[in-house]
Amino acid sequence: MASSPLTGIMTDRPLLIRDILLHGERTWPEQEIVSVSGSGQRHRTTFQETFRRTRKLANVLADLAIRPGDRIATLAWNDYRHIEIYYAVACSGSVCHTINPRLPEEQITYIINHAGDSWLFASVDFIPLLEKILPNISGVRGFIILGNDGETSTIPLPGAIPYETLINPASDEYEWPEFPETTASSLCYTSGTTGHPKGVLYSHRSTVLHTLMSNIAATINLNEQDVVMPVVPMFHVNAWGIPYSAVMAGAKMVLPGPHMANGQLLQALIEEEQVTVAFGVPTIWLALVHYLESSDKRIDSLNRVYTGGTACPRHIMDTLLRVYGTDTVHLWGMTELSPLGTLNQAEKRTDLSYDEKMDLRCKQGRSAFGVEMKLKDNHGNPVAHNGKDPGILFVRGYAICSGYLGEGEESPNTSLHDSDGWLNTGDIATIDEDGYLQITDRAKDVIKSGGEWISSIELENLAMAHPNVAEAAAIAMPDGTWGERPLLVAVKKDNNSLDEQRLQEWYQGKLPEWMHPDRVVFINELPHTATGKVIKSQLRGQLETLLSQ
Ligand code: ADP
Repeated sequence: MASSPLTGIMTDRPLLIRDILLHGERTWPEQEIVSVSGSGQRHRTTFQETFRRTRKLANVLADLAIRPGDRIATLAWNDYRHIEIYYAVACSGSVCHTINPRLPEEQITYIINHAGDSWLFASVDFIPLLEKILPNISGVRGFIILGNDGETSTIPLPGAIPYETLINPASDEYEWPEFPETTASSLCYTSGTTGHPKGVLYSHRSTVLHTLMSNIAATINLNEQDVVMPVVPMFHVNAWGIPYSAVMAGAKMVLPGPHMANGQLLQALIEEEQVTVAFGVPTIWLALVHYLESSDKRIDSLNRVYTGGTACPRHIMDTLLRVYGTDTVHLWGMTELSPLGTLNQAEKRTDLSYDEKMDLRCKQGRSAFGVEMKLKDNHGNPVAHNGKDPGILFVRGYAICSGYLGEGEESPNTSLHDSDGWLNTGDIATIDEDGYLQITDRAKDVIKSGGEWISSIELENLAMAHPNVAEAAAIAMPDGTWGERPLLVAVKKDNNSLDEQRLQEWYQGKLPEWMHPDRVVFINELPHTATGKVIKSQLRGQLETLLSQ
């Protein structure tokens, strides 16, 4: 007789974000959420009050005839009102679509129309932007403006309603509904350095699983003693999930509002609010370190920072640990992964010396629970995990998208996945015998010299370790003999006298000779995407001009 698996005899409760909210509110009603406004003032509230206002907002959404499945857009900073919108929209069955206000106007217009957003919550700061795009987003039925009474009383936008005016009279009684866990909860577009941005549509299930994955001890491990500061915007992959994981774990949240890359404000917040854990891209930590070095101020409460989005230069991690006692945990992730993929807890490796740990930290780390990784070559053959051979990185797991909004999201998207359903990340990487991932390039940015890949990230990190280099990008130049050779485009710190030859000499003994850049050119500023990544396609387009220098 053919045997079949036996079904477990357990209840089948849907995984809903509502349960994160209810748990946080019930267990830590007095836990604080501190937000910084545009003027720098601090607003203090609690989980209890935030979720009371969240219920009021849910009633407002119902009054505005917002229905399950509607996409509700936000153009907003990291603050308590944005938290209320996150939870009210998703937990009432609609979709919270966070938009990156730093994108070009045409992309914002495209995203709003592509998503079919029906209402838009916007911070007062973005009214000039809305006025410009208004004629092209006619599908949006109304605008709700986030700000204090004085700021929102005279809004020049037709039909706009101040947030506080709407929610003040609303009832705070609301029964959060139950629906299938596969219901969409939030939407985030990847900035896409090529083509149109693409919408990743998260579900309640993927969000709850991602929050659990983040909160276990082997990963981010927040708890009620923590004071967590996401310096990553809430419009960038849900601030890496912190608004959910902090509430689930009962951690105090410190939300810096529009003041993201302001080292002075970040230091003050860390010291005065006793921040223990913070999240952000390397540029943020660079700004903080610069301020600390120029001010002699300390960040003694800050136990660890999580850095991702782009490779973190060694010298930032070294300074933070050696001078300030703050550990850096290097993360790799993608919008498509919710975003957690890997993390590097080198500090826990008691078998390694300080320098060995520091070398290890430059890798992006081992996979988080719920994420599996494999490498393939250009022909689809497996690449060994030996720490040397690079391959195209594929992943599968619990919180990974199966397609993009409007592009066959119901079934695995074949160009995005291999035939076994693993997502092609578009990253080139090595994985060593201990499972540590090292991203060497984006597939579209690789430099192939004599058939061998040269890691542009390695060239850039070495350049940025030079005391006179502020930023660097390596790109391929066509070469008659080798196919391609590396060109390094560097920005000098404070316009010092560093020259091409001295920067080329810097690579001696640090990398095999054939990997050194053939040319180094200096530029005043590198072009960046809205999420801080260098736009290499633009640099490649300027190749002739760069080389004629
Ligand atoms: P975007 O910023 O373009 O909207 P994502 O935030 O999803 O999109 O970017 C994901 C990509 O960022 C990854 O595929 C990888 O190339 C890069 N990335 C993320 N974290 C790291 C890291 N720690 N080191 C190197 N590259 C990283």
